[in-house]
Formats: sequence, structure tokens, C-alpha cells
Amino acid sequence: MFQNYFNIFVLCWMAIALITFISLFFIRQPYGRHSTPSFGKMIDNQLGWIIMELPSPIVFAYFFFTGTSTLTSMHYLLFSLYMIHYINRSIIFPLRIRTKNKKMPLLIALSAIFFNLVNGFVNGYYLGNNAITKEPIILIIAGFILFILGFYINNKSDHILLHLRGKDDTGYKIPKGFLFDKVTSPNYFGEILEWLGFCIMNIHIASISFLVWTLANLIPRSRDHHQWYKDKFENYPTDRKRIFPYIY
Ligand code: NDP
Repeated sequence: MFQNYFNIFVLCWMAIALITFISLFFIRQPYGRHSTPSFGKMIDNQLGWIIMELPSPIVFAYFFFTGTSTLTSMHYLLFSLYMIHYINRSIIFPLRIRTKNKKMPLLIALSAIFFNLVNGFVNGYYLGNNAITKEPIILIIAGFILFILGFYINNKSDHILLHLRGKDDTGYKIPKGFLFDKVTSPNYFGEILEWLGFCIMNIHIASISFLVWTLANLIPRSRDHHQWYKDKFENYPTDRKRIFPYIY
């Protein structure tokens, strides 16, 4: 019975992702280069990243371990992938960013906390209370490879971006090399590959919803970044796509 309510909840959650996707073509997510005080009270950017991402692994782990399903090695593999990503995103990544004295709107941090609480619940609850879907082994392997490849692309791209700045520098330069020669936001492309891989390894409503939300957040943001670079740098390469090499 509860599973039925859960499925309806996740369908509504995906519908909100669709509305968010459309809205983000009209409103820029106001953090990083698009940060603006017109969204109310501001908080420290680095602290913001930690507090907005940390709820995800905590809630995910809580519902994963308090569920009723018999946990298999495949459950633990998916659990580990999720946790590796989020330990990096909530602790390691914020400690590496060079955004000295930069601020983000509290509203952004609060909305990201909300997203991470729900997304952590949806994925942790599903995995903790359901048997693993029986995908063909070829899909499981392909999904795993996609996840690892995406994680590598995401982190290498973030590494390149973070090293464009000196220690106390907060300005922007044109990133070059690696997949930056193909797209403006290879870090977002890598993140999408990760959650596509995660979804393919165990296809169900919860993992699909995470992929849908990732696409909804990152495609419009890559478009905003791309336009921002074109406006700011006259010599910005014209042959770069926004997020998907050769496509968009
Ligand atoms: P950005 O690409 O906007 O920025 C990443 C970091 O690099 C920031 O610290 C940024 O500084 C710095 N930076 C970016 N471009 C330049 C440049 N040209 N010159 C100098 N420094 C630069 O990524 P986000 O901040 O939006 O996201 C960070 C990570 O979080 C990414 O890996 C992304 O995939 C992930 N993410 C995932 C989401 C999801 O839905 N799954 C949603 C949002 C993010 P500054 O902040 O000052 O601009």
C-alpha cells in the first residue's frame, strides 16, 4: 500500500522537475557567476555548498539501512556509488573551491537542501525497501562503466575549473583542454553520465527521478553559462556546444 503512495509521490516529484526545467529557461539559478543579492539574505558560498549537499548522503544512508529488504551485494554497490559521489560533493569539493568572500543566496541553499532531502529519501527508501531489479548483466556493466566515466569527467573538469584561479583570485578565465574544447560545461556532462549509469544499473522510478532532476537542473544552467561566456569574452570559441559534445 505504502509503495503505491511512494510511486505517486515520486511521479509528482518528477512533474516538479519538469516544471523546474521549463522555469530555469527563464530564471538563472543565482549562484556562482549568476549570484545576485536580489534573492534576499546571502550566506558564505563555501559553507553553503557543505550545508546544502550534506543532507543527501545522511538521509539516503538512513533510509537505506532502516528499510525492510534483504540487502545484497548489488544493493551495497549502488549504495557505495551514491555515497562516493556525495562525500566528494558535500565535503571534498567545497573544501577545494576558490570562492573567497563570495556569497550565495540563502534561498538557493534552502531549495538545494529541500531537493537533497527528498532525493536522498526517494533513492534511499527505494533501495532499502525493494529487491534489485533484474537488469541484464550487460546493462549493469554498461551502467557501472558510465558512472565511473562520468565521475572521472565531472571531477577532472571541476579540477580544471578550480585551478583557473590563484588562491585569492575570484575572477573567470576561458577554460581550455580536455572536454572543454568540445563543450562549455563538461563537469555537468560528466554528472549526467554518472546518474544515467546509476539508473541503467537498476532501472526503477527512484533512479529515473534522480536522472530527470539532474537533466532539469544542469541543461538550463549550461545554457546560461554558455551565453555568459559569449557575452563576457569576445574570443570565446564558437565551435563549443553547451553540454553534450556535438549535439547541444
Ligand atoms: P560551475 O561550473 O559553475 O563552477 C564550478 C567551480 O569552478 C566553481 O567554484 C566556480 O566558481 C569555478 N569556475 C567555473 N568556471 C570558472 C572559470 N571560467 N574561471 C574560474 N573559475 C571557474 O559548477 P557549479 O558550481 O554549478 O556546480 C559544481 C558541481 O556541482 C558540478 O560538478 C556540478 O556537476 C554539480 N551540480 C550538480 C547538480 C545536480 O543536479 N546533480 C546541480 C548543480 C551542480 P564560482 O562559483 O565563483 O563561479
